[in-house]
Amino acid sequence: MSGFETKVPQTNAFQTHVVDNQPPEFAPRDLWATDPALREAVAREGGAAFADRLAVYGALAGDELYRLSFDAHRDKPRLRTHDRFGHRIDTVEFHPHYHRILQAALEHGVAGLSWSEEVPGSHVARGALSYLHHQVEPGTSCPLTMTHAAVPVLRHAPALREWADKVAASQYDPRDVPIAQKAGVTLGMGMTEKQGGSDVRANATIATPLSEAGEYSLVGHKWFFSAPMCDGFLVLAQAPGGLSCFLMPRRLPDGAKNAFQLMRLKDKLGDWSNASSEVEFVGARAYRIGDEGRGIATILEMVMLTRLDCMLGSAAEMRMALAQALHHCRHRKVFGKLLIDQPLMRNVLADLAIESEAALALSMRVARAVDAAPHDPAEAAFARIATAVGKYWVCKRAPAFVNEAQECLGGAGYVEESILPRLYRQAPLNSIWEGSGNIQCLDVLRALSREPETGQALLAELDGAHGLHRALDDTAASLRVSFADAKNAETGARLLVEHLALALQAAVLLRAGSPAADAFCRSRLGGEHGLALGTLPMDADFAAIVGRAHAG
Ligand SMILES: Cc1cc2nc3c(=O)[nH]c(=O)nc-3n(C[C@H](O)[C@H](O)[C@H](O)COP(=O)(O)OP(=O)(O)OC[C@H]3O[C@@H](n4cnc5c(N)ncnc54)[C@H](O)[C@@H]3O)c2cc1C
Repeated sequence: MSGFETKVPQTNAFQTHVVDNQPPEFAPRDLWATDPALREAVAREGGAAFADRLAVYGALAGDELYRLSFDAHRDKPRLRTHDRFGHRIDTVEFHPHYHRILQAALEHGVAGLSWSEEVPGSHVARGALSYLHHQVEPGTSCPLTMTHAAVPVLRHAPALREWADKVAASQYDPRDVPIAQKAGVTLGMGMTEKQGGSDVRANATIATPLSEAGEYSLVGHKWFFSAPMCDGFLVLAQAPGGLSCFLMPRRLPDGAKNAFQLMRLKDKLGDWSNASSEVEFVGARAYRIGDEGRGIATILEMVMLTRLDCMLGSAAEMRMALAQALHHCRHRKVFGKLLIDQPLMRNVLADLAIESEAALALSMRVARAVDAAPHDPAEAAFARIATAVGKYWVCKRAPAFVNEAQECLGGAGYVEESILPRLYRQAPLNSIWEGSGNIQCLDVLRALSREPETGQALLAELDGAHGLHRALDDTAASLRVSFADAKNAETGARLLVEHLALALQAAVLLRAGSPAADAFCRSRLGGEHGLALGTLPMDADFAAIVGRAHAG
């Protein structure tokens, strides 16, 4: 026997190395218990009575729903225009996990809570549910938010009461049958056409009256029509009296398929679990809501709420990306030390943490204003303008944020199993749909010039934090000057809205006494920051900020 042969290992012949220095699985992770900033925001904004239910959903979302979400995304929805015999069916098939996730969300009130329990704090609590849900499965957030937001519009038509009631019922019934046979319903929205989305006045779909009772026939198309398996859709079309809002059911009361056809599904950058279609109306039956010619004003109530959910959604994407970065850095050693203890990485993580908390804090503050709006004109004015301000800024921040969090994981952050690639593909969407960035900024200018009470509400919010931080006081003073000619400042609208958003975020964080507030004000308002994240001033309280972000 040669000496060479005796060196061959006799056991574990196929083990090439020891797997070491890798973090444990992320899930199960209780998304409520591990998020002090969320728990505090819910309590601060009036949703404390719902804490138990949020705790249940936070645990479910961070365990079962998180695990199921991977397949729901990998296996994209498929359009089936015809059955095997050639009948037109216009159906979209989803992965079974998509249905389970949607069912869980609906049953826990992600779409219906604010309508089933119209008590103070229910919009804040539903917003928090939506935030928890969106962290793990943003695709289903699309039908959830549209279903939630349709209710105030549906309530304008007493004949459609059943639809609003069945949203409040918080049940999932995916069967393609008339709503009289269903325990719960979902709703979508059709505004965007090929020739124009931002400018919906360019809509060309024609609505022809069929009866005195407000029934119409629709002929035309929609270029983007998401979640096309919803039971009904709020649609804009040109009636004889101008652009009007309609409810178009999927199934007619007699069980017949309504006359619209799904032409194809969009091949999207992200949002893969959710289907977005192109649709043509070939004499589809629809019921008018509100007066003819008042379509934009009518549907705006829905859009206000979906825009708030865009903010909450982008804040949720940031939170999940941050949680993943923190999880990795707490377990990964590099150059002999955990990443979370490396000074430069602490700066990155702390900068991400304050951005994430600021996004959440402003979103929840707006949710409180929505709660109070029906009986408090000042809060209604605040909700009106702060939704546009926040939708612009919070959504704008998400893509760069997710990329930075991804980088904290190194190569692992570029791999699907980490969830970060999915978040990265999702992140640009909230700033595009429901009115893209410029549209939000123009809307802020419009509100400032035509509804002066909205500007007053913003300034009152900043006044509430006066004296708490020099950088905020200075910003508030200069904003007061900018307001004077805001209506003529279209070219500079983005900068104005950015400053407004940062000032509002600072005010909320300062009044909340958040450990993130000082670093936020110094970096975002006081100029002590670079263009990239991870550039907080060197004497920031990194331990407190990072510790809070991964507490629990
Ligand atoms: C995945 C996905 C799903 C969608 N689902 C739906 C849906 O279910 N229902 C639905 O109705 N729509 C849906 N949309 C459409 C979406 O709401 C529109 O794409 C969006 O509102 C922008 O409209 P547009 O694409 O026609 O762009 P345009 O209106 O052509 O705008 C292009 C750009 O110009 C900017 N702009 C517009 N006007 C001005 C101006 N005056 N000054 C400066 N800049 C301006 C906009 O901000 C935007 O950045 C979806 C979109 C996506 C991507």
